[in-house]
Amino acid sequence: MRVSNKVIEEVVSEVAGPDVLLLIEYLKNKKNISEFKIAEKIGKEVNTTRNMLYRLYDANLVSFIRRKDKKKGWYIYYWTFNGKRITHLLKKLNEKKLDRLQQRLDREQAGQFYACKNNCCRLEFDKATDFEFKCPECGSLIDQEDNTQTIVKIKKEVEEMKKQMKK
Ligand SMILES: [Zn+2]
Repeated sequence: MRVSNKVIEEVVSEVAGPDVLLLIEYLKNKKNISEFKIAEKIGKEVNTTRNMLYRLYDANLVSFIRRKDKKKGWYIYYWTFNGKRITHLLKKLNEKKLDRLQQRLDREQAGQFYACKNNCCRLEFDKATDFEFKCPECGSLIDQEDNTQTIVKIKKEVEEMKKQMKK
């Protein structure tokens, strides 16, 4: 599967935070770049850069080799973007999203919802009983809501997600 830049951005920012995007942008088509060079290129402190790299490493999105600097005697880490992981992570993220949608759908299909006409609240039956069918925000009576449209909407989202996952 060919992964578009948009997908890379989406996955990376979701698993490691949107601030690392500029690092990935720089590292994407390169190999074994020292953290000092990365820091310089993206205009961040070395510590900040390392923090970004560790977050990416946690998600297996980068790998490193280390070499001893002969003059200084310490180790320098050289980083490579692990683009192959994207597809796997994307699959996982989509599965999670699908799972959440499915759960929401189940809740909508199983429950009765009560909503305030002023849009301040939306409660399940039990909660609505607790408040004696009065809105806890504005005190108006709350009515049972017809959630057919919501269900249709979520079902559509589920279908679209499934379709996308088959690609
Ligand atoms: Zn209200």
